[in-house]
Amino acid sequence: MDGCIFCMIASGEIPSETVLETEDVRVVADISPANPGHLLVIPKRHADDFTKLDEASAVAVIKTAQRVVRAMNNTLHPDGINVLQNNGEAAGQTVRHYHMHLIPRYVGDTVRMSWVPTAPGSEAIHSAAAEIRAGLGEA
Ligand code: AMP
Ligand code: ZN
Repeated sequence: MDGCIFCMIASGEIPSETVLETEDVRVVADISPANPGHLLVIPKRHADDFTKLDEASAVAVIKTAQRVVRAMNNTLHPDGINVLQNNGEAAGQTVRHYHMHLIPRYVGDTVRMSWVPTAPGSEAIHSAAAEIRAGLGEA
């Protein structure tokens, strides 16, 4: 997509610290990492977010992420790894081209990802689930 920075990174038009390139994805170092080794799996075909990702890209992202996470474990030996992605500004998405974060984690590091568990009651839990269930037909 014209003007999309991650399209330009994925295609190689903008140089990046590339860890792996396949036909469908490019894996690059995040420019402002949560920890050293923080990588982004970027599909080459533009999709705004998870809902827009084509099936071949989705498969390629997951397979590639698993391969790279295994390599990360074998090389950096982190205490844990976060595999995550954000959809929409409210969820923390700042680049509107789908990408998956692979973040090596260490006990005592500065990364914070948490929510306050709530207790909305079983009726609220049930009705939200029921609403989503009813919407599956249209998805
Ligand atoms: P998100 O907030 O999930 O959309 O993540 C966007 C990520 O892209 C952030 O972690 C940024 O540090 C990273 N980022 C932004 N621009 C670049 C770039 N030119 N090269 C590498 N990473 C980038
Ligand atoms: Zn793009």
